[in-house]
Amino acid sequence: MTENRYPFPKVELHLHLDGSIPPETMFALAEKEQIPLPAATLEEFRTWLKVTSDCSSVNEYLERFELPLQLLQSRENLTLVTESLIDVLAAQGYGLAEIRFAPQLHLRRGLTQRDAVEAVLAGQEAGLKKNPSLKTGILLCAMSIGPETLNMAENLETVRLTKEYLGKGVVGCDLAGAEGIVPLRNFHPVFDLARELAVPFTCHAGDSQGPDTVLDALDFGTKRIGHGHHLYDAPELWPRVRENGVTLEICPTSNIQCKTQPSYALHPAKKLFDAGIRVTISTDNMVLAAVTLEEEYDHCIGEMGFAYSDLIRMNLYAAEASFLPEEEKAGLIGRLQQQYQEETNA
Ligand SMILES: [Zn+2]
Repeated sequence: MTENRYPFPKVELHLHLDGSIPPETMFALAEKEQIPLPAATLEEFRTWLKVTSDCSSVNEYLERFELPLQLLQSRENLTLVTESLIDVLAAQGYGLAEIRFAPQLHLRRGLTQRDAVEAVLAGQEAGLKKNPSLKTGILLCAMSIGPETLNMAENLETVRLTKEYLGKGVVGCDLAGAEGIVPLRNFHPVFDLARELAVPFTCHAGDSQGPDTVLDALDFGTKRIGHGHHLYDAPELWPRVRENGVTLEICPTSNIQCKTQPSYALHPAKKLFDAGIRVTISTDNMVLAAVTLEEEYDHCIGEMGFAYSDLIRMNLYAAEASFLPEEEKAGLIGRLQQQYQEETNA
């Protein structure tokens, strides 16, 4: 499934490891771990992944992560899966990707959060060694799985681990999981600690819930928001988002599959972009959403109203907002700027 119809360096900021395990890797691991699959052959499994990518809500969507999570409970498998995802990204012509995962979801068979982080970092190192032109970094996700008190200790541990491994392959942290169980602002201790430790962070908000969660995320001091498209419903927040240079990590297909937007055509991403907001495009879960980044770009151009040059601009925004070190991003940003100029002067 190698694609390169968009010959500029592709940048993806919002990519969950457990939702992006290459199908052949998932299939092989399930066989090894003797975990029953809903399909007898790899081909049938690929079909199953495609047909089940539509669901009725974000919370139903989250249930689909059970199979990949069952496979990701050992160091060996976490390493292998990270390495194989990096191979796929390189084959698809990515220039930069941030891969995120929640260490606390990988403790069922005795690993610690630290073990999980080290296993993923080992996979990243092996993947990058084979694919030296690609830049990647890992985001560690704290999780919303219920009332914030349920796993606050685990979430704070995730932020502390982010600090410890910052500059060693980890680039920042995030809060992911279910929205709307309790107000997002209840999770402020996670972000208070991130700010105190000077850990870069993003935050899932404004997806299944309204712009009130975008406001909470802004109040945390976030520079990036995972999804955030419901910002469109609160134009009074736009100046604050613009002035603070906040970047939205928009995942169109995921939004439609989760029914948080009705269609590509009605998705407000282009309107937000035209309002001067730093919109970027990601897949969220390349495999569970059954979409590649280039297919997202097809939707951007074919149905969402973006021009080709807008895609380059959004990739430039993504590279600028990435938490990777400036020196690792400089070459890529230069190439995107040049391609943007060539495209808009043509
Ligand atoms: Zn996400």
